[in-house]
Amino acid sequence: MTARLIDGKAHAASVRARVRDRVADIHARTGLTPGLAVVLVGHDPASEVYVRSKGKQAVEAGMRSFEHRMPTDTPAADLLDLIRRLNEDPLVHGILVQLPLPAHLDARAVINAISPAKDVDGFHISNVGMVGTGQDAIVPCTPLGCMMMLRHHHADFRGLTALVIGHSNIVGKPMARLLLNADCTVIVAHKSSINIPELARIADIVIVAAGVPGLVRAEWIKPGATVIDVGINRIERDGKPALVGDVDFDNVRHVAGAITPVPGGVGPMTIACLLANTLTAFCHQNDLQEEPLLLDEQDQT
Ligand code: NAD
Repeated sequence: MTARLIDGKAHAASVRARVRDRVADIHARTGLTPGLAVVLVGHDPASEVYVRSKGKQAVEAGMRSFEHRMPTDTPAADLLDLIRRLNEDPLVHGILVQLPLPAHLDARAVINAISPAKDVDGFHISNVGMVGTGQDAIVPCTPLGCMMMLRHHHADFRGLTALVIGHSNIVGKPMARLLLNADCTVIVAHKSSINIPELARIADIVIVAAGVPGLVRAEWIKPGATVIDVGINRIERDGKPALVGDVDFDNVRHVAGAITPVPGGVGPMTIACLLANTLTAFCHQNDLQEEPLLLDEQDQT
């Protein structure tokens, strides 16, 4: 058996195209344009790449992009002051502070200073609480992208068992909450869990976000299960730098029913979902009663 490849690039292209069409349509009707502000503190090389890419894709989707770069030693008061101004700026509908922040800054305080209505990362305590209680809210981009790809393969989650490996606030926990909201039976494992292989063997869906290359092995996987690999690990392979996930892809693909590759799986969906969240936030802030863009629509892939 060889698993069906879940093509994150194609799913992401489909989401971006739908966002772009919707932005153009709203602009034609109302003259309004969504705006995304991205704040980068310091010079983390990976963050620089992500921030550039987010700005570029926002512009390609027909949005305004505002980039704010601050030095590594920025005092907390200056960053909070910028967030206050962005909260009040009518041209800005989404605010994202790129993580990780330099060690002297308290990421929780910074995120909670963002207006929940503009919190397009979905990390504000208010959005987290709303998602946790099954209410409509801005959902963190990576789990939202995973959910969209999963929905393409599973029209109904009821009766399915999902194992989420990793319990971070940005991936594992919101992923588990979304699956629970969809009436999936959810197991969450993490680095202190002692029986992950047995838990995986009963799972119809395995989602891993641990940051451990090759963690999920073929013998763990129930034949035909759907495997979503969130991990992004930079390793050296045959003397060359390589990007790999948390799944032993070459072997798991012979047992799973469907699987995301790394790269080209979850990664591209994350920024596409950021654009979708920005559009959603913009619609709410302007009282535009748009049809939901995402989870209810089938991708064209
Ligand atoms: P994190 O370090 O905050 O959390 C890691 C989680 O994995 C923790 O819950 C930890 O308990 C668990 N864990 C660690 N080692 C484990 C093990 N051996 N067995 C079981 N669980 C283990 O990480 P994060 O921010 O959630 O990111 C996880 C991975 O996903 C990283 O590789 C990161 O780069 C990647 N990521 C990718 C995207 C994307 O867009 N594709 C987005 C966010 C994170």
